[in-house]
Amino acid sequence: MVQMLNTSPSDVPPPVYVLGVRVDRLTQRQVLASLEQILSSAQRSSTPLPCQQIVTVNPEFVMAAQRDSLFCACINQAALVMADGIGIVLAARYLRQPTPERVTGIDTLSELATLCARQGYRMFLLGAAPGVAEIAGERLQEMAPGLQIAGTYAGSPALDEEQAILERVRTARADVLCVAYGAPAQDLWIYRNLSRLPVALAMGVGGSFDFLAGRQRRAPYWMRKSGLEWLYRLYREPWRWRRMLALPQFALSVVLKGRNSHDA
Ligand code: UDP
Repeated sequence: MVQMLNTSPSDVPPPVYVLGVRVDRLTQRQVLASLEQILSSAQRSSTPLPCQQIVTVNPEFVMAAQRDSLFCACINQAALVMADGIGIVLAARYLRQPTPERVTGIDTLSELATLCARQGYRMFLLGAAPGVAEIAGERLQEMAPGLQIAGTYAGSPALDEEQAILERVRTARADVLCVAYGAPAQDLWIYRNLSRLPVALAMGVGGSFDFLAGRQRRAPYWMRKSGLEWLYRLYREPWRWRRMLALPQFALSVVLKGRNSHDA
């Protein structure tokens, strides 16, 4: 078991558990402060600190975690679990343990790039279709001038590729690893490699590289703000309908479970 840092600011409420899955009740600003703390602790330490895992949870994650106890453990042990997905924000509100706001992976990735550019931390972008991570890296460098992209590589989450990928990341001397293999593959990939990952933090970022590289368009601002990003995604990528059945299943399960006893 990898030792986790205590990254929570002292003034934040305890996490909320939704159907046994942990969600930290943090603002975007507090998430950034925690990421900065992880990175600076690793930089100051004379010995390598264990890699810290960041997970962005949406209702699909929670439903997948009901069927897969390893995925549930992976989320619940993470250094930070962000409330990505309006369904999570609403569920936390229903449980009377509200999260202050929705904190998305893609927004956090952009802010993290700015932090890395400012402090000189190096980012490695792993996953997505060949060539996409390179373009995403260039886009992040435009958004965060001075950002050092330690490396990019598509690869795959297949077990037989793991060793070679770890070697690439090690050679690149990265501080931050962003993994875009979709959930749960990306998060399980990070989880099983935590003790071997030569970076301060690793985060699953789903389709973020596709958005950054312009292969997918993000919902208009008003839709994001009104909790309708999922609907826009369904409209742009209709093949997601089966996966998105998790949304009504999630809502029903939360309500049936009631307001108590969602703990792990
Ligand atoms: N992906 C990959 N290898 C795989 C499976 C997925 O590189 O074996 C990439 C895919 O190209 C995409 C990302 O993982 O860039 C998953 O995006 P998706 O939109 O499904 O993730 P979500 O945001 O829904 O978690």
